[in-house]
Amino acid sequence: MKNFFILFSLLFTVSLMVQGQTYDKKKADSLLKANREVYFKFSVFDRSILDELTNIISIDNVHGNEVYAYANKPEFENFVKLGYDITILTPPGSMLTDAELMKPKDSPKSKGPATWNFYPTYQQYVDTMEYFANTYPAICKLDTIGITIFGRLLLAVKISKDVNANGAKPKFLYTSSIHGDELTGYIGMLHLIDYLLTNYGTNAKATRLVDSVMIFINPLANPDGTYAGGNNSVNGATRLNGNGVDMNRNYPDPAAGQHPDGNPWQSETIDFMNYAGSNGFTMSANFHGGIEVFNYPWDTWSRLAADDSWWQFVGREYADTAHKYAPSGYFDDYQNGITNGYAWYRITGGRQDYMNYWRHCREVTIELSTTKLLPANQLVNYWNYNYHSYLNFIEQTLYGIHGIVTDTVTGFPLDAKIFIANHDKDSSLIYSGMPGGYYNRVIDQGSWDLTFSRPGYYSKTITNVIVTHYHGVKLDVMLKPVTYGAQELNRGELVIYPVPASKNIHIVFPETDSKKWKLDVLNALGLCLYSSEINNNGNLVYNLDVASFPDGLYFVVLRNENGVYRRQIIVRH
Ligand SMILES: [Zn+2]
Repeated sequence: MKNFFILFSLLFTVSLMVQGQTYDKKKADSLLKANREVYFKFSVFDRSILDELTNIISIDNVHGNEVYAYANKPEFENFVKLGYDITILTPPGSMLTDAELMKPKDSPKSKGPATWNFYPTYQQYVDTMEYFANTYPAICKLDTIGITIFGRLLLAVKISKDVNANGAKPKFLYTSSIHGDELTGYIGMLHLIDYLLTNYGTNAKATRLVDSVMIFINPLANPDGTYAGGNNSVNGATRLNGNGVDMNRNYPDPAAGQHPDGNPWQSETIDFMNYAGSNGFTMSANFHGGIEVFNYPWDTWSRLAADDSWWQFVGREYADTAHKYAPSGYFDDYQNGITNGYAWYRITGGRQDYMNYWRHCREVTIELSTTKLLPANQLVNYWNYNYHSYLNFIEQTLYGIHGIVTDTVTGFPLDAKIFIANHDKDSSLIYSGMPGGYYNRVIDQGSWDLTFSRPGYYSKTITNVIVTHYHGVKLDVMLKPVTYGAQELNRGELVIYPVPASKNIHIVFPETDSKKWKLDVLNALGLCLYSSEINNNGNLVYNLDVASFPDGLYFVVLRNENGVYRRQIIVRH
């Protein structure tokens, strides 16, 4: 609806200013038929109109008053009515020959080390992701984030020491090519996965990152766009997804509402929102192309993010490191390689703002190369320009303030809210995650007051936490339940036998005259594995079958109206 009113007002305004329209209709029609999208440029008198045009077409870049944009068929038909002089451009995904894309014959990783100087076929991509997980099962696991509308896979690898554990570590996500024709990051991320896996245990930095961070990498967020020309080549790659939707305008927007582009959430959008929700990433980056810049929040608001100075610090680190390893002139757009998103041009419905606002994750948009689809023989150069920056940005998740939030009575982890007074705004606060109660607040250097709170607990504020660059501050916090002293009174330790146990454990009721009990068994991370209400009719012991529990440490918690009893047990088969 919003688009309709904007369109109406623009039609009225622009028709007064523009005498006529010229564009190559034949070329546009044939591109829309073949590619589901058209790429074009036009000029505006006043850049402020872009805030509204961004709701009608997918603006890709702005140089002065010259605007580069994409549109699907209905978007383009609406746009031409505005009367701009439009120049239809050759799609970036169709500019190279197959020779320049260097189509390989064999799957890159199935026959020895890859050189990452070509664009794989879709099947080679899937095989390569499986190869990583199959070859390095201790530190690499393959996740399917979802399936596209044309049935292609949205894949991510998770790389971490003890990859199946869900320990107290920051979670970091790299994702690339949500715009299917911007592919420098696609190959860059495959190369990064290969680098981390093959250098683990030998290279100090790669080892430290894999040991200390859970690294998630999704090299290709829009396979239907990338392989729009067929699964055997990226030739013909499109920006939009299989439905002709720009997925980086399709997310809920903190200023423009749930559907800023007027389209329903695409299945890929929903899959990514669910993936972010279930993982709780501390930091992430979304790789694009078409310019060379580190674009930090916000895209939708002119006001600055709470952590603006931190964004500039990590952005400068990214850009300056790239400058060190690249020829001069690389990655120097806007403020020598960094920009506030809104200062470049406003977009609504972008993933970056969604992740920052709704997922409390520090996500940035990184534009890796002016040429969206690089000739394949340049891919290794762009890897060399960027891979130190890729690693440094992951490493930033280890700095700031981190720790575990637990319950003073039970010692169990809590999902608490962590808020910094006189600093946090626009949803920049964070939460500790479950299981584990781990939190990780990346922040600029300074002295900070952190307030930890959770319903049912007394809030606690820790003042003057000093943060300096390139250091992590460990701060574990215990919260006291407001019911402490009543039903959560610590009544003591349970008698349980045998310890260790393999099949049955016998829990001795500590009060023989109490009938109503609640029994919980939690694993070492605080995840509840067993819960039962017990109405005791004079039994002295309660028998619990632990045969199905994996070996490990568990907490047994038994409550009645008088308080809580607890005990750690070990299960060993
Ligand atoms: Zn893009």
